[in-house]
Order: sequence, then C-alpha cells, then structure tokens
Amino acid sequence: MLSSSTSTLRFHQPTRGPRRHPLPPVSHQIRLGVASRRRIPQRGGTVIRALDAAQPFDYESRAAGLLEDRQRLKIAIVGFGNFGQFLARTFARQGHTLLAHSRSDYSSLAASVGASYFQDPHDLCECHPDVVLLATSILSAEAVLRTLPVHRLRRNTLFVDVLSVKEFPKNLLLSTLPPDFDVICTHPMFGPESARDGWDGLPFVFDKVRVGDCPARRARAEAFLNIFEREGCRMVEMSCAEHDAHAAETQFLTHTVGRMLAMLELQSTPINTKGYETLLRLVDNTCSDSFDLYNGLFMYNKNSTELLNRLEWAMDSVKKKLFDGLHDVLRKQLFEGSPHAPNTNTVRK
Ligand code: NAP
Repeated sequence: MLSSSTSTLRFHQPTRGPRRHPLPPVSHQIRLGVASRRRIPQRGGTVIRALDAAQPFDYESRAAGLLEDRQRLKIAIVGFGNFGQFLARTFARQGHTLLAHSRSDYSSLAASVGASYFQDPHDLCECHPDVVLLATSILSAEAVLRTLPVHRLRRNTLFVDVLSVKEFPKNLLLSTLPPDFDVICTHPMFGPESARDGWDGLPFVFDKVRVGDCPARRARAEAFLNIFEREGCRMVEMSCAEHDAHAAETQFLTHTVGRMLAMLELQSTPINTKGYETLLRLVDNTCSDSFDLYNGLFMYNKNSTELLNRLEWAMDSVKKKLFDGLHDVLRKQLFEGSPHAPNTNTVRK
C-alpha cells in the first residue's frame, strides 16, 4: 500500500494510545495550532493539561474542520485553455491548491485564480500534486502526455482526464502511465457557455478505471469526485465505451447540427419563433468551442462516422419525401391536366 501525498489524508490514520480524546499527530497539531499545550500547576501538585481540559468541545469542532481539510487536494491542471481555466475557477473557490501548465503562457491568468503557473512540466511534477488533470485538446492529448516527466511525480499519483471522448484517453492513460498510478476518466457534460450559471443538475460522467485498493487512494478519488458532487452535478458512473456510444448521439450530433446551421449564417429577425431562437442559441453554444474540440469528437469516437452517415440518410429521406410529393403534383399537372397527356393508367400498367 502506498501512502498518500496529502498530509491531510495521512492524518486519517488511526491514532494510538489510551487518550480519551486522541490528538492528531504532531505535524498536524502544528498545522492546527494546537502544539503549544501548556502544563498548568494546580494546588496540591496536580497537573492539568489545559488543552485536555477543553477537549470534548474543542476536538469535535476541529474534527469537523478536518473533514473539510481531508477533501482538499493539490491539483495540477495540464492544458490551461478555455475548459481548464473554467474548471480552475470552481476548484479554487472550493479551496483546492492549484498548479497549471500549458503550451501557451497563462501565468497572469493563472495568478488571477490563485494558481501557480509552470512553463516547464518538470517543475510542475516536482511539486507532487495529488491529482494531475488532463484538460488539453483531444487531438494533442497523446503528445502532451508524453512530454510529462511522470517519473518526477509521486508513484501513486491520481490522473484524471476531462476529454469529451472516453475510450481513447482510457487506453492512452493505461498504456502510458506506470501501473502504480490511479486513473479516473471523466466527462463534465457542460462547458463555460452551457454552465454559465452554475453546475447544478448538470451531468458529470465518470469511470473509476483504476483506483488502488487502499483507504488513502480511495479517499483521494472520492475527494476529487466530491468537487463535482458539491456543485450539484448529476453524477453518472458509466464505462468509457458506454459513454462514447451515447455521446455520439448527444454531443457529436448536437455539435454537427450547430455547425451546419452556422454555415447558413442565420440572423435574428423581427419575427423569431421560440424554435428559431433555440437554433440561434445552438449555433452560439457549439461554435464557441474550438474546431479542434469538434474534430476530436469525430476523430476519436468510433461511433461518430456512423452518426454522420445516419444524419445524411435522414436528410436524404426527408428531402425524398418532399420531392416525391412535389413530383406527384407536377405529374398530375403535366399529364392529367393536358389534352395531350398520355393515359397514366395505361402507363402504370
Ligand atoms: P480545446 O481546443 O479542445 O483544447 C485547448 C487546450 O489544448 C489548451 O489548453 C491548449 O493549450 C491545448 N492544446 C491544443 N493543441 C495543443 C498542442 N498541439 N500542444 C499542446 N497543447 C495543445 O478546447 P477546450 O474547450 O479548452 O477543451 C479542453 C479539453 O476539455 C478537451 O479535451 C475537451 O474535449 C474537454 N472538454 C471541453 C468542454 C467545453 O465545453 N469546452 C467540456 C467538457 C470537456 P494552449 O491554450 O496552451 O495553447
């Protein structure tokens, strides 16, 4: 069993000894400001420890604080673009320690959310984050992962990805990372546009691909998932394969229709219907994401090609229905309405 990198998780280990209200280990007493226990001489030579005397109430309130502390993680975000920054704002608000690394220089943006920015991934890894969160584009994920000096991390670091496809990063992480690392594949099914007003009720898909069987590693995984649970996300545990099958319909279809409509350069009119306004919003929601993201949904989800084919078939079927009706009308006008029309009954026979 490997020890966790967080001191807060280490504190969760049982304390030994006969003390009725056990104190945490010394390092934690210092952190909590309880190291200065004073011995107060009493009449008759008895010595009462001031802190012990106050313990029942004191310890309880501290334990409540520690429960919060236990959930606090040091998270390194790799890929600090649109979505990485969006997640960072909530992580920071919840009190997690944030580190960030990206291809571009985001040092001032990182500072604005209280994250430390590392241009060099070696420096980032040497900070020994509890969690490395991969938030880079789908297309660049493999190249970015290979540039990370994972040997500088603690050997049971938790890797989480937030890529919008799931089977691809699952296979990538399992084949690239050392076997001691934990892996959770996730997909927050929302973004800066759709979750502008908060994450409440929005789906968060996750697959605990590999979480070591020891309390500290399980606790760390739960602490990470709890970030989303606390924001009110609808937590959906499903396999990466299942996600990709559903996502081709829910996500790739939505983005494709949004991008097709964008090609039409639709404009708002004085007589917009509610349906039309929904279409305008769809264009906004989907086209505010990068083309790389959309391209990744196509390239790295094997179900997307079939979805495109079905979409084409559906468009052709609808068109055919319209044109068949039109041809019937024209045929009637051309032939049955004219004195020179051939006998269509004969033709049909
Ligand atoms: P994106 O275009 O998919 O990714 C942008 C990120 O990828 C930036 O951090 C960028 O780094 C990095 N990147 C791109 N090409 C790179 C390269 N060749 N080498 C190194 N880094 C490269 O846009 P995004 O919206 O920020 O999405 C990030 C991830 O989150 C994606 O995997 C996406 O599927 C997932 N996701 C996005 C949403 C959303 O609503 N946007 C929702 C759920 C999940 P620099 O900025 O430093 O150049």
